[in-house]
Amino acid sequence: FAPWDDPNEKPLIQFRNVTKRFGDFTAIDNLSQDIYAREFFALLGPSGCGKTTMMRMLAGFETPTEGQILIAGQDMAGVPPNKRPVNMMFQSYALFPHLSVWENIAFGLKREGMEKDKVDARVTEMLRLTRLERFAKRKPHQISGGQRQRVALARSLAKAPKLLLLDEPLGALDAKLRQDTQFELVDIQEKTGTTFVIVTHDQEEAMTVASRVAVMDEGRIVQVATPAVIYEQPNSVYVADFIGDVNIIEGAANPSADGYDITWAEGQPILHVKTEKTFAPGQKCFLAIRPEKVGISAEEPTDAANKVQGQIIDIAYLGNLSTYHVKLADGTMMKAQIANTRRLSRRSLTWEDNVWLSWTDTAPVLLES
Ligand code: ATP
Repeated sequence: FAPWDDPNEKPLIQFRNVTKRFGDFTAIDNLSQDIYAREFFALLGPSGCGKTTMMRMLAGFETPTEGQILIAGQDMAGVPPNKRPVNMMFQSYALFPHLSVWENIAFGLKREGMEKDKVDARVTEMLRLTRLERFAKRKPHQISGGQRQRVALARSLAKAPKLLLLDEPLGALDAKLRQDTQFELVDIQEKTGTTFVIVTHDQEEAMTVASRVAVMDEGRIVQVATPAVIYEQPNSVYVADFIGDVNIIEGAANPSADGYDITWAEGQPILHVKTEKTFAPGQKCFLAIRPEKVGISAEEPTDAANKVQGQIIDIAYLGNLSTYHVKLADGTMMKAQIANTRRLSRRSLTWEDNVWLSWTDTAPVLLES
């Protein structure tokens, strides 16, 4: 059982019908969501959708206009930030420039009045956890950006909070370091068992680190699921489009033996999709098809459930993969993504070639909106 599927598991965090308004602007709109202990929970969405507002309400820097937030069963109304079992790590890391790495990590513990021996032991443990032992004596300006990020993490975890909030924690790092650090974050989260809630607008980052991803749109969570489910079974065009690359075809659904026949653009063949979802005859629908599920060939495929013809107008070479941009006769643009190792064994396809695109009847997700 994953904790969110286990009826006996009590949530660590509960948002209950939470609304947050700034003046007459609604930033969070009647949102309810449970988050469980030891989860790595990602809030993902475009700029302005309300991610940071959710975090600030959890930390106690903002108060909900309506509704309740519970942590470990306790209503947080009126509980100030420093009395919550929560720590927040900011994008800027906010390290003290004049203090050493060791002193930065020890700062909060000393201020709490922890005994010197215990502070020493705890800081040593945090330095080991974040692999910073060698840098203990250096000042923040004498270490790299990635190391500073780890100091901020060590400092946030030193007081052993139940919950750590991370607002775009890797935003300042370059792409390669960012990827390495994502795996470190997951490793540290697993070792400490702390619940992490991370805010990011980077879908790959959310997919890499999170146990569950909540996709947000204008103050609401529109889907929350494991990264695989979010990717394979998005519940709307918005989610399909926000997570990775996708082809969207709009059409009308007509019931068939094991799914639907989809009529769409003028002159294009009827498409077939297998699904257990229910649509009314003729109902407007959308097919979401990932580019890697679309095959491309010069010859007409013999046994494909779906095939359409078009012309290659662009090829994006991505090293291990290539994405072919294909224009169909009615003007529809579609993308097919092929592994380059596989492609090398065939005649290479090139710009302006006339090609067939094909996909199975289980490749598309059929969506209402
Ligand atoms: P980003 O990825 O850009 O940080 P976000 O999803 O974290 O965006 P929030 O910072 O939560 O978005 O803001 C949500 C909405 O609420 C935005 O439209 C923002 O302008 C508005 N907002 C946030 N704080 C305030 C405030 N103190 N007063 C008025 N409006 C606010």
